[in-house]
This record gives sequence, structure tokens and C-alpha cells, in this order.
Amino acid sequence: MITDLVQIRRLGEKKHAENERFRKHLKTREWAEKQLRRAAREIQEKFDCRQCAECCRVTEVEPTRRDIERLSKFLGISTREFIAKYTMIAEDKSRILKRSEKKGCIFLSGNDCTVYEARPLDCSGFPHLMKGAGSIPAKMWAFVERAEFCPIVYNWMEEAKKLTKFR
Ligand code: SF4
Ligand code: SF4
Repeated sequence: MITDLVQIRRLGEKKHAENERFRKHLKTREWAEKQLRRAAREIQEKFDCRQCAECCRVTEVEPTRRDIERLSKFLGISTREFIAKYTMIAEDKSRILKRSEKKGCIFLSGNDCTVYEARPLDCSGFPHLMKGAGSIPAKMWAFVERAEFCPIVYNWMEEAKKLTKFR
């Protein structure tokens, strides 16, 4: 199991083309979703995301209206104030939680989420291997990119390649 974030970045990028092939491999064959999910659960149980927090540094979070309401309530401010203070417009014009390239999400402090109890649903379900709608093969397009920074996804993908006899 590889946990070092520098290694994950290096290996994930190096295996990008292979992982793209694996995505197609899963899509064009019938695999037991149960088996893939069981492997995901076993890998996820071994990780403590609070020791990592890499997704909070590298991804953009688009909060839903309900996320904004919950976060505003948690912080004791109005939704209007929340939007002004804690969100920004991304390159693709969507509204995301304020972030910087250097520090990541505005709510990240060290490896801790300062709004953990009220964090957006997208954050609590990340990396969405176990949670969320859709089968694993249908979501593979996102996992190829996530394998380049998330240790759970990287290690799961390597395990899934063995399970499906991909090479
Ligand atoms: S809200 Fe919290 S969990 Fe979500 S990206 Fe920001 S720091 Fe991470
Ligand atoms: S979901 Fe992945 S990137 Fe995010 S904290 Fe957990 S192991 Fe790290």
C-alpha cells in the first residue's frame, strides 16, 4: 500500500495512459460491482483521511445551495455573507469554495477541516468510490484523475487491476 503523496502523484501521472486503458477495460466488460466495491471498502478502511487532506488542497468544491445554508448556519452568518466571504468564481464560471493554489480550500487548517461537521456533501463522500450514485465503471473517468493525488483511489485501482486480471 502506497501512502506517500509525492509517490502517489508520480506514479499516478506515470500510469495515466495505463489507467485510461483500465477505464475502457472496465467499461467494456461485465465485472462484479460488489467485488470492486469490497476492494474499495477494504482500502478505504485502512486510511485515515485526516492524516492526508490532499483532496482539500488540490480539488475545487462546488457547494450546493443546501451546503451553503448548512455552512452559513454553522458559522453563524447569513448565506449572503457566506457567499461573499467564502466562495469565488472558478475558471469555468462555477461558484466554488474559496481556495488558493498554495493552501487549498479556505477551510483547511493544517490537515484539518475547520467546518468538518458542516462540510459539503461532496467533501464527505470523497473520493466517491463507495458513496454516490452510479456504478464504479461509469465513474471511472473521474478516478483516473483522482489516482494522481488520492492514495485511496490509487491503491484501489491497482487492486482492481489484479481482481479483473488487467495487464
Ligand atoms: S470544506 Fe473541508 S473537507 Fe471540504 S475541501 Fe474544504 S477543508 Fe476539505
Ligand atoms: S479522500 Fe483521498 S485525497 Fe482525500 S484525504 Fe482521503 S486519502 Fe487523501
